[in-house]
Amino acid sequence: MPTPSPGAPRPAADPGARDAGFFATLPKAELHLHIEGSLTPARLLALGEKNGVELPYGDEDAVLAAYQFDDLQSFLDLYYQGMSVLRTEEDFRDLTLDYLEVCRRERILHCEIGFDPQAHTERGVPLPVVVSGIGAALAEARRGWRQSGALILNFLRHLPAEHAMATLKAAEPYLDDVVAVGLDSSEVGFPPEPFADVFARARSLGLRCVAHAGEEGPPAYVWGALDALQVERIDHGIRAEEDAALLERLAASRIPLTVCPLSNVRLKAVPDLAQHNLRRLLHRGLLVTVNSDDPSYFGGYLSENFARCAAALGLTLAESAQLARNSFAASFLPDSQRARLTAEVDAWESLQA
Ligand SMILES: [Zn+2]
Repeated sequence: MPTPSPGAPRPAADPGARDAGFFATLPKAELHLHIEGSLTPARLLALGEKNGVELPYGDEDAVLAAYQFDDLQSFLDLYYQGMSVLRTEEDFRDLTLDYLEVCRRERILHCEIGFDPQAHTERGVPLPVVVSGIGAALAEARRGWRQSGALILNFLRHLPAEHAMATLKAAEPYLDDVVAVGLDSSEVGFPPEPFADVFARARSLGLRCVAHAGEEGPPAYVWGALDALQVERIDHGIRAEEDAALLERLAASRIPLTVCPLSNVRLKAVPDLAQHNLRRLLHRGLLVTVNSDDPSYFGGYLSENFARCAAALGLTLAESAQLARNSFAASFLPDSQRARLTAEVDAWESLQA
């Protein structure tokens, strides 16, 4: 390639060149990430072998080939099977460190990591093992490269609310790294209202509240999460677009949506990325953020989500920078840290000009 002579005009930026590597330089936060969904095929196979868990895959390619989903439930069936390899504190530590290393590589300066305690206690792994393992990794990353991070304790909505309440009570001695509670798993047929008492108790403990809603479920579930659970953030929320009054409320109250574009395509919540409503929601004035959800299952980490959205939706650099700013605005960070990290996005954007 010829070297441009000094003073030659800089070639126009090629939008195609803005790949995941480019977006890995963008400072951002990730607010919707299930740590169990970041279990890489390599780690899955290694832990399966170490712990003597029989898996139906011969190699990493076979794992990836199995990740073809028809909807949320078909994914969840594989997701719960995959996490069965997680047994010891060290397993949870290694799993979490794998993801935190991604944060380091991709300039994810702050992460709020979801985990599903019931999915582990149900199969005999004690809660302190889970929390201590994840917490050890967070502490290591904080010490190692000043990674900022916190945990979101998610309840499985396909189990009874009493089970969620018992889980919260059992978790109360272990909440040091936990900033919020959430609600996840199978959505349709499991509205949020039965969990109102659990979320009220979480608030009384000083925890923030989020919930998955409006991924596959109707806008009524988003209303339910806002009114019955009093959440401060909606995970997914893309189906809110079907309800004009709901969109107005979300915009007026600045309730963030943690949108997961590649997940939505893989689980067929949207037919393809070019038809995703991320950009429309952004332009409706919603506090929209981009997230990877379960990156090992859905084809990419956070920077890949940014790159694929930029290409499919024609996002400008200013829009991508806005999405990154939103990620800090939507986080549960204290104001001072949020302002400092947002300034890093401003600096990144001015470098691109
Ligand atoms: Zn999710």
